[in-house]
Amino acid sequence: MVEYSKPLPEITADDKPFWDACKRHELSLQRCQDCGHIRLPSPICQKCLSMNSEWVRVSGRGELYTWTMIYQRYHPAFGDELPYNVAIVELEEGPRLITNIVGCTNEDLRIGMEVEVVFEDVTEEITLPKFKPAS
Ligand code: ZN
Repeated sequence: MVEYSKPLPEITADDKPFWDACKRHELSLQRCQDCGHIRLPSPICQKCLSMNSEWVRVSGRGELYTWTMIYQRYHPAFGDELPYNVAIVELEEGPRLITNIVGCTNEDLRIGMEVEVVFEDVTEEITLPKFKPAS
C-alpha cells in the first residue's frame, strides 16, 4: 500500500464499529433500540435521547444532497487533486455523510443524483467510504 499522507479520522470508542464495518466494505450505522431512528455514531439518540442502540448494515445508497468545490490548497497532500469536491450524501436511511463523489467528473455532479457507496482502503486501519453515481 502506498504511503497515505492526508489527514485521517481519529477513531473513538463510539465510532469504532463504523470504521470496522468500512474495513469490511460495509456501511454500518447505529439504530436506536427504543424508537428505531438510524443515526451517525453518537452515544445518544437525537430523537428520543435513549442510550440503547445497535449497529445495523445500511444500503449504501443515497443521493447527493449538496457539494462544494475546493480550489485552495489547505493541506499539501491534496495539492495534486485540486480542484476536488467535498459532498454531503443523504443516505436512504436518512443520515447525511460528508464524503467525496468519485467515478465521475466534477462537472457531472447534480443535486439529487443517485449515488452508492464505494470503499477506499487508504491504510491498514482506515477505509474511507466514498460515493459514485449509482449503477
Ligand atoms: Zn431513539
